[in-house]
Amino acid sequence: MIIQLKPKTTEKELQRVIKRLIKDGIEKENIEVIRGDPHTVLGIKGDTRKLSEDHYETLESVYQVIRISDPCKELTKYFHPKGTTVELSNGHKIGEGLTVIAGPCAVESYKQLLESAKIVKKAGANVLRGGAYKPRTSPDSFQGLGEEGLKYLAKVKKELGMPIITELTDIRDLKLFEKYDVDIIQIGARNCQNFRLLDEMAKVDRPVMLKRGSEVSVTEYLLAALRIYRGNRKVILCERGGKTHDPKHRNVLNLNNVVYIKQNYHLPIIVDPSHGSGIRKSVAPLSCAGIAAGADGVMIEVHCNPEEALCDGDQSIDGEIFDLIPKLEQIYRLVQN
Ligand code: PEP
Ligand code: MN
Repeated sequence: MIIQLKPKTTEKELQRVIKRLIKDGIEKENIEVIRGDPHTVLGIKGDTRKLSEDHYETLESVYQVIRISDPCKELTKYFHPKGTTVELSNGHKIGEGLTVIAGPCAVESYKQLLESAKIVKKAGANVLRGGAYKPRTSPDSFQGLGEEGLKYLAKVKKELGMPIITELTDIRDLKLFEKYDVDIIQIGARNCQNFRLLDEMAKVDRPVMLKRGSEVSVTEYLLAALRIYRGNRKVILCERGGKTHDPKHRNVLNLNNVVYIKQNYHLPIIVDPSHGSGIRKSVAPLSCAGIAAGADGVMIEVHCNPEEALCDGDQSIDGEIFDLIPKLEQIYRLVQN
């Protein structure tokens, strides 16, 4: 970290900043002073993660603070240049080869889940999705079947041999997620910065997929992922887009984030073009674009009868997934090789 002092800062003021750094845990030998005219600069070596730029910038004698090391250092490619993978119970590795997660937005009944799962399995998806606890904006909307939904997911998992992913919205449900052996715990966009929930995910020995919150910046998002990663290495990222001023789109899928994350960080990342657009017709082209941007896979809402879906029918596809997966495989091969 570099602290640039204001022009003509006195020796007394310089010493005050140094004293503050030492108080904040920086060793004296890690503070390098370059006395210049008009600016004196302090170079701070070692672990500076606990120092707050904002705090130092409020000091009277400080002109600006420049952070050199990434606040999410452990997630950078420097530590894992080839990227990390997350292995599922059936041996499938997210981050190695294309991953397709597909299934209905919500589990509505055993029959609806099984029918939808058969479609995605036959099309070649690797993981079955389905929400049992739905974070709905309106209290009058379908909220999910709760434990009954988890039961159906576990049943279909056994019948078709597919790992399952479902969203956890409340830590009190974790026991049930363990009971029904949920393969990947999804933390949804709305809970992306629910820090106490994230801290609990750090204690879990199970893959966790963290979605980016609609209004959460990429750095804030990576810091949220880091919270889980510090205790639980099985972290998968998911870009699901964010709000836009344009009424034509429900959300805009932020592929810049995918490119940036893949270039600089080692965690696998999935794109969700269903929530990322909100429009059925956009799902296939945006899936292709996501893989072209370097994502490790897609998460797509597929319903056996989208017209009748109780949740997110407008963005759910059906048989279209059969043509889509081979296309994604082709693009993946082109981009990743
Ligand atoms: C979902 O995947 O079902 C979901 C609710 O997504 P998000 O958290 O991205 O809105
Ligand atoms: Mn949905």
